[in-house]
Amino acid sequence: MKSKNLGINTICLHVGEVEDKQFKGAISPLYMASSYAYENVDIKRYPRYFNTPNQEALSKKIAMLEHAEAGLIFGSGMAAVSTTMLAFLNSGDHVVLQKTLYGGTFNFVTEEFEKFGIEYTFTEGFAENDFVSAIKENTKVIFIETPSNPLMLITDLEMISGIAKKRGIVTMIDNTFASPINQNPIDFGIDICIHSATKYMGGHSDICAGAVAASDEHMQKIWNKAKNLGGSLSDYTVWLLERSMKTMALRVKAQNRNAKKMAKWLEKHSMVAKVYYPGLKSHPDYELAKKQMSGYTGMLSFELVAEIDAQKFTQALRLVKPSMSLASVESTIVLPLKTSHALLSAEERLHQGIADGLLRFSVGIEDKKDLMADFEQAFEAVTKNILQKSN
Ligand SMILES: *Cc1c(COP(=O)(O)O)cnc(C)c1O
Repeated sequence: MKSKNLGINTICLHVGEVEDKQFKGAISPLYMASSYAYENVDIKRYPRYFNTPNQEALSKKIAMLEHAEAGLIFGSGMAAVSTTMLAFLNSGDHVVLQKTLYGGTFNFVTEEFEKFGIEYTFTEGFAENDFVSAIKENTKVIFIETPSNPLMLITDLEMISGIAKKRGIVTMIDNTFASPINQNPIDFGIDICIHSATKYMGGHSDICAGAVAASDEHMQKIWNKAKNLGGSLSDYTVWLLERSMKTMALRVKAQNRNAKKMAKWLEKHSMVAKVYYPGLKSHPDYELAKKQMSGYTGMLSFELVAEIDAQKFTQALRLVKPSMSLASVESTIVLPLKTSHALLSAEERLHQGIADGLLRFSVGIEDKKDLMADFEQAFEAVTKNILQKSN
């Protein structure tokens, strides 16, 4: 399975498969061994070396999906983020980070970097000048995340790689929200792609994992750090993740379609004040998204009209689950005010453009008519309350 011309579904299904030579089973056998013979083999296999048969197999699939030379699977998205950053940042180095990043990444940087002697700057915005003005002489890494959470703002991948290449800076992207189905940043000159495989790659709310894709040269550095930090994933979960990824392209494309329809429907709805979805022409980054993404993801956010209590609305939903995680086959919704952005001050939330009534909606694969019906009954339930109150 070496061909670069394979279609996306074939890659998801077959690339990297471990052949069952003994019994000719249809799927990769699971090798749970944590001890392998060392005689007559040039590689020492060991789970924390990230090179068991199942780990190696899935790494190949991830590499091909991201158009990279090499891949690596981690025990969580944060194991992938932390290991990759620490592989390229030493004491005295500086990193430029995009203004809004996943909360765990933000915490990792702000709680850990000082003791490593690593300097960091968060950008003021998403424009070229915001990044250029944040760069210092000792900047070694630029770290971005696009689309951003929860407003789905888009960072220009070519712009970032252009700035970095001129200055010998390594670029890293958290590509979790897009998934490799909708965005392949390496094609736009980004060096390293990081995923929380807990999200679209796993896709069923039952796996916590991470993944990285990069060139062989960069991956050598990441692997060196990875075996020291020890954030590998159990082979059983690697094997489950391989199964999940067989349907990733099918799932994600269905989620793209559902989200686009829901975004358009919500945009016209009288109970909704604003919708943030990069696949809508009204989104400020629509053109940029069109240039660098092949699909607009299953993620969107929206603000309800001021009269509606957003929390009550989420509680009134019956099919769509109020849940912190995202990107699974089932639709979930969160109120950033009460969850991911609860620790920020009201001022800081406003600065980030996160209204109190903003809802982040992770669209699943349910039939859209059922999602719409669920929203309608919830709108009805909360507006009835308003009417009762005002009577
Ligand atoms: C969930 C998530 C992470 C962290 O992944 P874990 O698997 O929870 O460690 C990182 N980045 C983004 C964008 C995420 O959504």
